[in-house]
Amino acid sequence: MNVLVINCGSSSLKYQFINSDTEEVLAKGLCERIGIDGSQITYQPKDGDKEVTVTPMPDHTVAVQLVIDMLTNDKTGVVKSLSDIDAVGHRIVHGGEKFASSVVIDDEVVKAIEECNDLAPLHNPANLIGINACKKLMPNVPMVAVFDTAFHQTMPPKAYLYGIPYEYYEKFKVRRYGFHGTSHDFVSTEAAKFLGKDRKDLKIIVCHLGNGASITAVDKGKSVDTSMGLTPLDGLIMGTRSGSIDPAIVTFLAGKLHTDADGVLEILNKKSGVYGLSKVSSDFRDLEKAYNEGNELAKVTLETYSYHVAKFIGSYVAAMNGVDVIVYTAGVGENTSLVRKMVSEYLTYLGTNVDPEKNKLRGETVVLSDPGSKVVTMIVPTNEELAICRETVRLVK
Ligand code: ADP
Repeated sequence: MNVLVINCGSSSLKYQFINSDTEEVLAKGLCERIGIDGSQITYQPKDGDKEVTVTPMPDHTVAVQLVIDMLTNDKTGVVKSLSDIDAVGHRIVHGGEKFASSVVIDDEVVKAIEECNDLAPLHNPANLIGINACKKLMPNVPMVAVFDTAFHQTMPPKAYLYGIPYEYYEKFKVRRYGFHGTSHDFVSTEAAKFLGKDRKDLKIIVCHLGNGASITAVDKGKSVDTSMGLTPLDGLIMGTRSGSIDPAIVTFLAGKLHTDADGVLEILNKKSGVYGLSKVSSDFRDLEKAYNEGNELAKVTLETYSYHVAKFIGSYVAAMNGVDVIVYTAGVGENTSLVRKMVSEYLTYLGTNVDPEKNKLRGETVVLSDPGSKVVTMIVPTNEELAICRETVRLVK
């Protein structure tokens, strides 16, 4: 089957077109500045050059039409016609408590996703726009919704409840949901596969460290706790997001900065994290460079970041009463050996024995710990698009 995987934002649309039999990416790209002046589409076919076309995209339907035109183009297309697109998989950020797994999209599902808009006002409405645009242009092609939150719906109440009046959970569904579920599910599955084990026999801690970052405790194949919360702001220090802080900081800073809670939230989302702490960058390549040049604040930032990662790992060892495998994934987890080194130094008590030489490897599935270590530490590159493709095939075949 040929599956079109769509990740739709309010003004952007990322796509990958995957042959599910070979799991080969036939083409991929990005529509940017949809609805804004200067919109452009990037198209990269598997054996061809990357093309960037600046063209008006007043809305997402036009963007999807352009993607279809690129995929079926006589010269640089990878298929002949629209009928070669067998299914569409959509990444949906928030499924609330309604979705514990992926689903085939119908009118009921669209309505249920709409009801979750409140929980992810920046993301879900945009995801729905993508669904509607595809429905308009490909009414007979089956579509599947794959939720960032679904994998975490197995968390028990003790992991998802916050210490606030229970009525707010009952009335407003305020609870921990967790995100990056597609990645945590995919990476823990691939880790077990690589080790020749059944995920059901393992306690795995997945550290998804990208621009957004979260850690999940996967016990016997199920998410039992995760660091992101009601929103993706909770948990670890991230690229520009603060992660967990004392909630009283919100009103304290609002007073000092003569703004309101929304003004402070903007700072916590966009100007905090390693970017705000280091005054250097949200990009770990820049941070590592600054660290190597002796920048003191970059050093403190990397130490603080790694310390927080190690503390979360420690708490999930407690949550599962043990750990067999620690996995690093996403941009920072796969590439930044310095962070992995700093984190690993806190975990030697577990019997992790990370080999300093192997720890220099990056971007491939590899075991970093010495053979016979009590806890296996490894890198497994994430691939959310492939995970969405697999889910789509599972449901429409
Ligand atoms: P997201 O998908 O959340 O936007 P990614 O998983 O792509 O994020 O991770 C992005 C971050 O990964 C970058 O900001 C950068 O800090 C880090 N990163 C990516 N590639 C490298 C690399 N080669 N070396 C070090 N860090 C990297």
